[in-house]
Amino acid sequence: MSRPIIGISGSTQIDEGGRFPGSKRAYVYEDYVRSTERAGGVPFILPVMKDVDSIKQQVAALDGIIISGGDDVNPLMYGVEPHILQGEINPERDAFDEQLIKAAVEANKPILAICRGMQILNVVFGGTLYQDLSYIDGSYIKHDQYSGPSYPSHSVSIEPDSFLYTIFEDKVTMINSFHHQAVKDIAHGFKVTARAKDRVVEAIEKDDDSSFVIGVQWHPEMMTESNSQMLALFEALIGKAK
Ligand code: MN
Repeated sequence: MSRPIIGISGSTQIDEGGRFPGSKRAYVYEDYVRSTERAGGVPFILPVMKDVDSIKQQVAALDGIIISGGDDVNPLMYGVEPHILQGEINPERDAFDEQLIKAAVEANKPILAICRGMQILNVVFGGTLYQDLSYIDGSYIKHDQYSGPSYPSHSVSIEPDSFLYTIFEDKVTMINSFHHQAVKDIAHGFKVTARAKDRVVEAIEKDDDSSFVIGVQWHPEMMTESNSQMLALFEALIGKAK
């Protein structure tokens, strides 16, 4: 049997040095590729596109989709002006991710949205974000760890009624953390399925049993080599993609 085709949303970056300074790259971090492969999928990198019909065609060619991490989401997407601690944005990529997510949900393809991917998933369906964790009253956990990328630095509590609980078979797990923004208002039709000890949203899911649309605030792709729960998350996506 052939393995499911998993698209990984790409980003763009302008070379500052090297042979071709000023040239734009289309890329993803390799951890997404390796984790998809490790979990039994065939990874395809999805370059940022503008044309909506082309994006729909990208989606039609795939069995499942990973919305990868990256820059902050442009706050204008959720109707808020940029605040002082807003980080770098990539509006071209925001526009691509929006169309990609809409097309994937419309086509009922399973989605795993990671870090910024979860944040933009929430925004696309009407949710909002905190532009920096310092704007959250009572947030005290270090969500941008200074330890190796695969190191699980803080805990999350998982809601029993969730795909995440089914996958992890645990109410508490340890995750890595590399973010300075967080989900504020949850999108209509979604539910929060994991939180950190300081109540920061760490996972969301589309609130229906027929679709597999999961967002996680951490970076499971950096943990699959040595962490069976994070590998199981990728395997769950690929299982749904079959
Ligand atoms: Mn965190």
